[in-house]
Amino acid sequence: MALVGVDFRAPLRLVKRVQFGVLGPDEIRRMSVGEIEFPEVYEGGKPKLGGLMDPRQGVIDRRGRCMTCAGNMTDCPGHFAHLELAKPVFNIGFLTKTLKVLRCVCFYCSRLLVDKDNPRIKEVIAKTKGQSRKRLTLVYEICKAKNVCEGGDEMQNVDEQGGGGQGDGDKEGKGSSGCGRYQPSYRRTGIDIFAEWKKHVNEDTQERKIVLTAERALEILKQITDAECAVLGLDPRFTRPDWLICQVLPVPPLAVRPAVVTFGSARNQDDLTHKLSDIVKANNQLRKNEANGAAAHIIAEDVKLLQYHVATLVDNAIPGLPTATQKGGRPLKSIKQRLKGKEGRIRGNLMGK
Ligand SMILES: [Zn+2]
Ligand SMILES: [Zn+2]
Repeated sequence: MALVGVDFRAPLRLVKRVQFGVLGPDEIRRMSVGEIEFPEVYEGGKPKLGGLMDPRQGVIDRRGRCMTCAGNMTDCPGHFAHLELAKPVFNIGFLTKTLKVLRCVCFYCSRLLVDKDNPRIKEVIAKTKGQSRKRLTLVYEICKAKNVCEGGDEMQNVDEQGGGGQGDGDKEGKGSSGCGRYQPSYRRTGIDIFAEWKKHVNEDTQERKIVLTAERALEILKQITDAECAVLGLDPRFTRPDWLICQVLPVPPLAVRPAVVTFGSARNQDDLTHKLSDIVKANNQLRKNEANGAAAHIIAEDVKLLQYHVATLVDNAIPGLPTATQKGGRPLKSIKQRLKGKEGRIRGNLMGK
């Protein structure tokens, strides 16, 4: 593998540790060379700024120079751009984790369903230092049976106010730090999440069963305090639970999705570029309809389409979802399919090289 874009003048440093985390919307914007807003590629024969082959993202042809780093085709490593989503969508790669976190916290007030001073929780915290995944699994095991938000019970938590009913102001006058409301059970089909109250109703809508939108899930996850985030095994400095929901989409550099110039004819765009174009179109349509005050069911349809395209960009083999195809019927190759397997980027190109 060629070391593309390595600056040999940079000082050598010893790697002490590697920290994994989830990219939050602000970090994605910081990494980005610009916002992508248009599905078009060219304008007046040139790559369009803010289009899907934005010249700030890398070099398009052999004679060109990159607008960001001034490098040519061999020097420029390519640069990420970003897309602001008109409404948040679930990240298919994190959907299982998203559900797990949702099942641990209150649907209304976002408090942990079992108090963090509960002896069983304390025991889990003590024995899972540095094992975030195990901590979430064990806390989930304790929380999943709870169907009422009890919070602190006898214990009065004065260290964090605002746990109960943050934002909605209808805090019930109970002694506990939780809100005492009944919790739904969550079920996933394809990329839809349903919240269902067995013997009660959703206090916001008086319904038994609702589709949990990514927008609502984001509200719940945002209100989880940093302290309780840590109890769930997520270090808030590197992974806030709300970052599991996709609000800003990183747009991969041109080097990741090079257009193939077939002899004498037009360029054949990479599958990812096709998919990104569907995403930009769906996003623009949603934004337009929202601005025009379209009916709720129209907005819901738009969100559904956007969700479908963002999900199949990442993984185009989701059980219960139709496969996204190219015009001729060939399935589009998603990011996941590029990485996994023996011929994938990891085992095929990186390991042992
Ligand atoms: Zn560059
Ligand atoms: Zn609650």
